[in-house]
Amino acid sequence: MLTITDLNKTYSNGVHALKSVSLSIPTGLFGLLGPNGAGKSSLMRTIATLQEPDSGSIRFGKLDVLKDKEALRRQLGYLPQDFGVYPKVSAEDLLTHFAILKGLTQRGERREIVEGLLRQTNLWDARKRKLGTYSGGMRQRFGIAQALLGDPKLVIVDEPTAGLDPEERNRFLNLLAEIGEQVVVILSTHIVEDVTDLCPRMAMIAKGQVLLQGEPQSAIDTLRHKVWQKRVSKAALPQYQASMDVLTSRLVGGLPQISVFADSQPEEGFVSVEPDLEDVYFLKLRQHNGAMLKAPQHDAGAPLAALAA
Ligand code: ADP
Repeated sequence: MLTITDLNKTYSNGVHALKSVSLSIPTGLFGLLGPNGAGKSSLMRTIATLQEPDSGSIRFGKLDVLKDKEALRRQLGYLPQDFGVYPKVSAEDLLTHFAILKGLTQRGERREIVEGLLRQTNLWDARKRKLGTYSGGMRQRFGIAQALLGDPKLVIVDEPTAGLDPEERNRFLNLLAEIGEQVVVILSTHIVEDVTDLCPRMAMIAKGQVLLQGEPQSAIDTLRHKVWQKRVSKAALPQYQASMDVLTSRLVGGLPQISVFADSQPEEGFVSVEPDLEDVYFLKLRQHNGAMLKAPQHDAGAPLAALAA
């Protein structure tokens, strides 16, 4: 279990990137969902001991992470957002190189581990190819292979699915879910679908604050019978957006189809639909932005507490 308590970080330019962030993250794939600029990377880097918070604590099991960074690093696998590879080197050679850096000095053992990881990430057949010829999905799987060197108990992957096509994304997420059967895996993403299917637990953050944490399905259940859909004219859309809690709007057959949050049918023509995680996400962001606008000095998280698991 990874326990984060009251973490705060303000950068020297005055951006308050983490605001009393508290999270409990058990074994399994944990989705950290938030828009760009929410503070996801700041949080990931802090947990990975690459930067210091101003205050707060992080415990991994019995380990006090901020006091004993070395001990955490020995148990950590990290795939940063901007993971670069040497394009002219083969996957096998680079992974072997990383393995040596990790302290795997025994040749036989190292070869076995490198082979195991290349097989696990489905790169064995492409192991001799230069990394520069890899697709985005293959590169990210290579990133996971290097993160898994040294048998980490905590794996952090920061926005790994951006730019992957749906098939590659699925393959990648399945790989993470498999790894999550044994260890804590934190997946940060701004893509709601990344979290929906495979993460037993998740948190949503925005502007440095945790808006919700818990099981995706429980969060979705709180919106049952409260999401309504209607196709409207393009001309009328701004009016709906101004007068109702419009969560999403997408073109269906050339017309905007809007999803609205409301306790009862907002207007004739709206039909009740099954809520999904995207509805939860946009409602939370909407409420958060609204709370920030209405009461900037007030704790914006408070009105949301009732919905938070
Ligand atoms: P995310 O990963 O969710 O996109 P980040 O953690 O990268 O969010 O950024 C959170 C906020 O902190 C943003 O406003 C960003 O501009 C700011 N920020 C991130 N890193 C730094 C830094 N090193 N110095 C100053 N501001 C930063």
